[in-house]
Amino acid sequence: MQIREYVKPDTLEEAYALLMKGKANRILGGCTFLKRTNLKIGTAIDLAACGLDYIREMDTEVAVGAYTSLRTVETSEVILREFGPALRESMEHLIGVQLRNAITIGAHAASRFGFSDIIPTLLAMNAKLRFYRGGVKTLRDYMEEERLEKDILVEILLPKEGRRTVVQMARLSYSDYSVFCLAMSRAGGNWIVSAGAFPGRAKLAERTMAVMNGGPVAREEAATLAENIAAEYRFGSNYRGSAEYRRELCRVFARRGIEELAQ
Ligand SMILES: Cc1cc2nc3c(=O)[nH]c(=O)nc-3n(C[C@H](O)[C@H](O)[C@H](O)COP(=O)(O)OP(=O)(O)OC[C@H]3O[C@@H](n4cnc5c(N)ncnc54)[C@H](O)[C@@H]3O)c2cc1C
Repeated sequence: MQIREYVKPDTLEEAYALLMKGKANRILGGCTFLKRTNLKIGTAIDLAACGLDYIREMDTEVAVGAYTSLRTVETSEVILREFGPALRESMEHLIGVQLRNAITIGAHAASRFGFSDIIPTLLAMNAKLRFYRGGVKTLRDYMEEERLEKDILVEILLPKEGRRTVVQMARLSYSDYSVFCLAMSRAGGNWIVSAGAFPGRAKLAERTMAVMNGGPVAREEAATLAENIAAEYRFGSNYRGSAEYRRELCRVFARRGIEELAQ
């Protein structure tokens, strides 16, 4: 990337005004992705002074500021206590602690990376996103939006609804990108199933979820439901794996996830 001008505003109001001032103006997260691009940035807007590095526990949800590092999220006792280890598991393979100290969770979620393990996990956790201009929307809706408006992601909201989440990923070596990722959760009778890296932007298995949410799910149904989940995704081939390999991973991960959560 090339930066013409660097600015570190003190408020989100200022940051948003700068963002809207020019087409080539950009928000900076930890720059781990940006610096690998050839982008020519007009005004680079550093959010470091905008107070978005926090994890706040409230009565009904936990708010994670967009400028919070993956490492802070991964080591948060509040997140572990309220939501279990799934979010940590989706992050801890990512190269090393130094890099995870630099990557900001907001940049990752806002970018809708098609290789992400973190986004399918956040989807399964029923996460919402608060944008400076656009207000609160579900991550599910954000992932489906065709054209994104320029905006600043302020925080990620994780609802405390007693949801148990499991995430399963396959990669060729420990710190590589995933070949495929499947996350699943259950809160009472409500299930969420999401997958990513088919390869492609993470999405929910809506049709099978509708069936699962229509009545109790027994462990014995796991194989059939897993087959239906796999049938909902369009898998692709690349140098990490073939479409058929990914489909098989999906069947196996979905069956295991249902068997674990149906208990
Ligand atoms: C060596 C390496 C290995 C990696 N391996 C993996 C992996 O295995 N799995 C995986 O999922 N990812 C992996 N990643 C990708 C990593 O997750 C991204 O680099 C990271 O998410 C980018 O975060 P950042 O804070 O550095 O964002 P930046 O690079 O600073 O920004 C990325 C984008 O987000 C925008 N942005 C930043 N903050 C906001 C905000 N608050 N609101 C709106 N837009 C914003 C920026 O304008 C930019 O377009 C890897 C990256 C590297 C460098």
